[in-house]
Amino acid sequence: MTLPVDPVENLAVLIRCPSVTPAEGGALTALANMLKPLGFSIDQPVFSESGTPDIDNLYARLSGDGAGDGPGNGPHLMFAGHTDVVPPGDESAWKHPPFSAAIDNGEIYGRGAVDMKGGIACFAAAVARHVEENGPLKGSISFLITGDEEGPAINGTAKLLDWAKARGERWDAAVVGEPTNPDRLGDMIKIGRRGSVSGTIVVRGVQGHAAYPHLAENPVRGLVTLVEALLDPVLDEGTRDFQPSNLEVTTIDVGNPATNVIPGKATASFNIRFNDSWTGETIMAEIHNRLDHAAASNRLRPGRETPIAYELLWRDRPSPVFLTRDDRLIGTLSASIEAVTGRKPQLSTSGGTSDARFIKNYCPVVEFGLVGQTMHMIDERAALSDLEMLTRIYQRFLADFFA
Ligand SMILES: [Zn+2]
Repeated sequence: MTLPVDPVENLAVLIRCPSVTPAEGGALTALANMLKPLGFSIDQPVFSESGTPDIDNLYARLSGDGAGDGPGNGPHLMFAGHTDVVPPGDESAWKHPPFSAAIDNGEIYGRGAVDMKGGIACFAAAVARHVEENGPLKGSISFLITGDEEGPAINGTAKLLDWAKARGERWDAAVVGEPTNPDRLGDMIKIGRRGSVSGTIVVRGVQGHAAYPHLAENPVRGLVTLVEALLDPVLDEGTRDFQPSNLEVTTIDVGNPATNVIPGKATASFNIRFNDSWTGETIMAEIHNRLDHAAASNRLRPGRETPIAYELLWRDRPSPVFLTRDDRLIGTLSASIEAVTGRKPQLSTSGGTSDARFIKNYCPVVEFGLVGQTMHMIDERAALSDLEMLTRIYQRFLADFFA
């Protein structure tokens, strides 16, 4: 049997599976077929929840030194990621069809090339080379791969972790293969992520004639006051490991087409990316405080001193902030990157959330993958030289991790 030692071949196979969330598209099965010759035991659990599509997932484990399926000797490393991809957009705008895996001028084209079938293809190749060179593992490696990262993420990594834990799986460290490098391979490891929470403020007034404001109550006045209280003062100045927390007002809606009508209702929505000086609970409490204070102190207009009546609705639960402090994991990966690329990666907590937010509850987790420049874009593509280099980085990391 041929081992999946070539990341470009692995990636081409994966790209040709049209796995736009929530479709499996053959991608997980293709990955399973790649891993089987290496001796991985494979499960492909499907998770369901009413109101969301069923999702295919994959958990593959390779245990070295005759440990079988049980908890083997030596450390257990998890590689995590997703095979689902975002829609290709206007397919005719692509230089090469988005699921063709065409190679052109040293680059392979296709939806998911960098986000993140490329990372999976390289890690599979690295494991294959490691096993080929060193024989049985001195520990265990698991692939924890979902088909629901780009979608609602309900039937994906969170449930897969639970499912594996219930079967007795424990991990010592995890690497997520998301594209983390802004410009060049070796730029950046993500060692944490900011938290995120979104809310909507609804202010209700009394609709009326714009010329007779004493008979009405304009909710826009109240909303403007409340929004100002969200924005000023700033939430914090940043911390040692994180940039300052940020609140963005994402929309303000009144929907009033008439010039002579005072509207009856006004809403505003916002999203906060918060650092490790907050938890989801404390940041939400801060927002409630600011709004209550502003609502109570507001004078709607001279002679009108009723507080602003508002409702605050939180969308979903906050996703928590986290920071990985495992020096051995971070140090081993950094050293591998430096040895292969000659660049010392920046340890960063910037950017959006990822499935690492779930994994951090089980073991220390870091993220490192390809260059992210074309992710989610028309003509998403990866340089063949980067795929080879990332494979060597992962391979070196495996050698040191299992040394
Ligand atoms: Zn991704």
